[in-house]
Amino acid sequence: AAAPPVLAAHGLSAGYGGAPVVRRLDIQVRAGEVVVLLGPNGAGKTTTLLALAGALAPQAGEVHWAGSATAAPLHRRARSGLSLVPEDRSVIMSLTVRENLRVGRCDPALALATFPELAEHLDRRAGLLSGGQQQMVTLARALARRPTALLADELSLGLAPQIVTRLLTAVRAAADEGLAVLLVEQHVRSALTIADHVHVLRHGRLAWSGTAAEAEANRDAVASAYLPLA
Ligand code: ATP
Repeated sequence: AAAPPVLAAHGLSAGYGGAPVVRRLDIQVRAGEVVVLLGPNGAGKTTTLLALAGALAPQAGEVHWAGSATAAPLHRRARSGLSLVPEDRSVIMSLTVRENLRVGRCDPALALATFPELAEHLDRRAGLLSGGQQQMVTLARALARRPTALLADELSLGLAPQIVTRLLTAVRAAADEGLAVLLVEQHVRSALTIADHVHVLRHGRLAWSGTAAEAEANRDAVASAYLPLA
């Protein structure tokens, strides 16, 4: 039998005080698994991540974390191994890469184990790095905490395809070591190459769910039905 999920939404509805933005979601993320959440702008992908991470309280339904229902806020879920990488890159531009890692209590050696190419930039200010290199710092810092689950919102936003592949390869490698991953991605093709399961959100509801192979086989249908330009 499959291992129980590390993180799960059960009938989860969430929003910002008015009508729910996402409704009755059922999503499960297991150790070693990459689950990708696709969908057009405004579909509710970020809202879903925030609710799963504890930054937004559910309006209905439940979030299960490490085997039980939780209402713990983000900082407590973070302390127990849930890592949220939000859409805005959270590097401090005026600090060096090394200082950024220190602020995140990240051992540079661990960061370099993930992205050796950062070695030559350790003493450069983050503001002088490319967007891709900044995102490597963000991701390395998140992974160095050895989280149980990683929730990442559009890691690859605005980045060149080669860098997207590099970042997603690192995410896949971490999953292969046991990390549970939920990724929001606009780069459908790249995302499918590392995904195990795929969900497509549309108007706040799960419009399509399946394995990555099923999504690949139905790529055109999935993409043309639910995504703007995939
Ligand atoms: P995008 O790709 O544009 O980030 P998304 O799928 O992540 O889209 P969300 O950011 O979850 O979508 O937004 C879904 C809906 O919730 C949108 O209609 C948005 O206007 C609304 N929304 C997002 N954040 C807030 C907020 N802080 N307060 C009120 N409404 C919000």
